[in-house]
Amino acid sequence: MFRILRYLILISLISSGYHIFISEYFNLSERNFLVREIIKKEIVEDKKEIIQEKKEKVTLPNIKKNIDKVQYVEKKIEILQGDTFVSILKNLNFEQENIYEIISEIENFFDLNKIKTGEIISVFENSFGEIKKIEFFKSSETIISVNLDKDINLNIRELNKDSFVESKEYTITESLFSDGIKNGVSADILVKIISLFSFDLDFQRDIRVNTVVSISYEFDEIIETGKLQYNDIKYASIIIDGKKLEYFKFITDDGYVDYFNRAGKNVKKSILKTPLDGARISSNFGMRKHPISGFNKMHKGVDFAAPTGTPIYAGGNGIVEYVGSNGGYGKYIRIRHNNGYKTAYAHLSNYKKGISKGVRINQGEVIGYVGSTGNSTGPHLHYEIIYQNKHINPLKLKLPSGKILEGKELEKFKEEYKIIYADHLSMLYE
Ligand SMILES: [Zn+2]
Repeated sequence: MFRILRYLILISLISSGYHIFISEYFNLSERNFLVREIIKKEIVEDKKEIIQEKKEKVTLPNIKKNIDKVQYVEKKIEILQGDTFVSILKNLNFEQENIYEIISEIENFFDLNKIKTGEIISVFENSFGEIKKIEFFKSSETIISVNLDKDINLNIRELNKDSFVESKEYTITESLFSDGIKNGVSADILVKIISLFSFDLDFQRDIRVNTVVSISYEFDEIIETGKLQYNDIKYASIIIDGKKLEYFKFITDDGYVDYFNRAGKNVKKSILKTPLDGARISSNFGMRKHPISGFNKMHKGVDFAAPTGTPIYAGGNGIVEYVGSNGGYGKYIRIRHNNGYKTAYAHLSNYKKGISKGVRINQGEVIGYVGSTGNSTGPHLHYEIIYQNKHINPLKLKLPSGKILEGKELEKFKEEYKIIYADHLSMLYE
């Protein structure tokens, strides 16, 4: 009987070890996946920009020049509220059958639902008033041209563009966004700056009057249309009370566009999964029988067993929201991070000196010490991560972990950021 019991315990130990291994393994692959997701998102955002720009200005390139030799007359049709490509073709007296053919041909290359109100469709007629060609923008740098001469055929043309880098610096008197607009920075770039600093700054609270924003970014000008298309930020800094937060664009060896500070630390800061050193997980997130009450209860955090007095680190940059005794949690600290995250630390023996409500702390800073206050059976840290007021499993946190450049990659980055910075200063001050 005892032998069977021992055997069962052994099996359960092996399987839980295996479980931890598997979950860590998937965490790693999730991480990879996330990085890819971010890149994808950036690409999608770029597309959005193009669409927005299309809405801003509606001048078509001088296409007429190319086709003057065949004597077509160009008519521009603005897409109005309620128009569809079908309704426009109907108004142009196309037969139902032709409409279907034209649309199915275009739909092989372009989703016509993406055409927006305010955009322009150019229609080219010959001297008999027959429509021989239809043109419209696929993106701000690509034109789709539908030839209707004999068969329907599509021609997709890329427009030429010039690339530029520009630097701007301004002081905030109202908000990062509105002062940016006043200083001629495009909304697309301002949105990128805000997302770049969103893990470091709470834009509602942190930005004060006399905060200085300094940026350098890339953009293209489409030669034929004069349209501007904003691309990556190359450099951005925000100086608050003399404290400078800054990031440089860098393409990592594995090919990802990312942002790093001068020390080579990546911008996307994750919240720490383990906010103390040398700890062992003594109780995982999920349903369990409570060690004191004996009832089945949801365990909303992870317990790390560690000797009393072990330092506890802030899981991320943020502002202390609560310090003090909190019922069964004993001595307790809660930190509010940006982007809807909070972390909580319970059963502490003591708080670090200077930690009080409203204090700003950085990731990795010591905030308190492991203890056994409140409902606790022995010294351990009970650690919670709260996202949009819901508890999530810290060990399954889906955030990209910070990357720190090392070795040759760091050397390469340092060379590049010096050039970016020198260019930035010379554009601002020369
Ligand atoms: Zn716990």
